[in-house]
Amino acid sequence: MKKDILYVVIPCYNEEEVINETTKRLKEKLNTLIKSNVISPKSRVMYVNDGSKDKTWSLIKKIDRKEKLFTGITLSRNRGHQNALVAGLLTAKEYSDVVISMDADLQDDINAIDEMLKKYHNGCDVVYGVRSSRKKDTFFKKITAQGFYKFMAKMGVNVIYNHADYRLTSKRVLNEFEKYKEVNLFLRGIFPLIGFKTDVVYYERAERFAGSSKYPLKKMLNFAWDGITSFSVKPIRAVLSLGIVIFLISLLVMIYCLIVKIAGYTVEGWTFLAVSIWLVAGVQMLSLGIIGEYVGKVYNETKARPRYIISENLNEKRLGKRLKKRTEKRLVKSLIKNINTSEITNSI
Ligand code: UDP
Ligand code: MG
Repeated sequence: MKKDILYVVIPCYNEEEVINETTKRLKEKLNTLIKSNVISPKSRVMYVNDGSKDKTWSLIKKIDRKEKLFTGITLSRNRGHQNALVAGLLTAKEYSDVVISMDADLQDDINAIDEMLKKYHNGCDVVYGVRSSRKKDTFFKKITAQGFYKFMAKMGVNVIYNHADYRLTSKRVLNEFEKYKEVNLFLRGIFPLIGFKTDVVYYERAERFAGSSKYPLKKMLNFAWDGITSFSVKPIRAVLSLGIVIFLISLLVMIYCLIVKIAGYTVEGWTFLAVSIWLVAGVQMLSLGIIGEYVGKVYNETKARPRYIISENLNEKRLGKRLKKRTEKRLVKSLIKNINTSEITNSI
């Protein structure tokens, strides 16, 4: 039976400290899977260099030359983890039947790949890697992450609890995913929207193998904010409800003010007036800010700019060369055949 081609997509941003070790471990894993006939020998690991400033890309090129099972693409500049992932997923799907995405720092347990593939062979189109616990996280990360998932659920966004971007997706899911053209990306929210048969695989998330996190607090907050505002209009509705409540309160305040005026205590109300002006202005500013956020999103989406630009694709080069060689061989063969037949015909 023909085995499916697996591509493992790994976005890399300044990962020179980990990439060689990741290569070593994944090479072992892929070789075992190929030997035990689970995946095709045409399977590959595809690194996506997200505009790294260190030696990551030159290391990837070196690995591509040395290792048959490894290849890479590079983006024209740093576009962020999610865009790098999309670039990798959409490029890899052209060469494969099934794709697994994971981080470069070996935090995702590569042994979960076996179970993911088992579920895929049992008919699942998406298999989510889910962290079984957060024991290794710092207290701060644990609290913020939990708060984030709870808040997302409250906002009506369907995300898998404790699932990052360690995920198996079949080619047909990726073909559907390609139709989601949005620029503000939050992949964890998109895949549950696509549907198909899905399952989860639990794994223990390790600590980063080397180097430091490429997700500082600012990036993390941006990411969470993107997740909420890309999938939920609830904040806008909350602003509307808040507006209605404040309007009702202001009616009561108006009645109160009139009564006070009639009773003749006008100067007394100065503190109250000042406070209300500040408060209402504050709420208005906040509301405008939230609405502005959505308007900004619409603005970005209408421009429909490309989400990434691939400046080099080592896999295409390699496959292209092979194709060229094959075509050349075929051409030479057919030439020889033609010459022979024409010579024979002539001699007859
Ligand atoms: N990453 C990326 N572009 C960025 C930031 C991060 O491609 O702008 C990659 C990074 O190389 C890693 C993955 O995204 O493979 C997750 O980043 P990291 O491990 O630093 O995040 P953390 O695990 O600390 O949340
Ligand atoms: Mg990490």
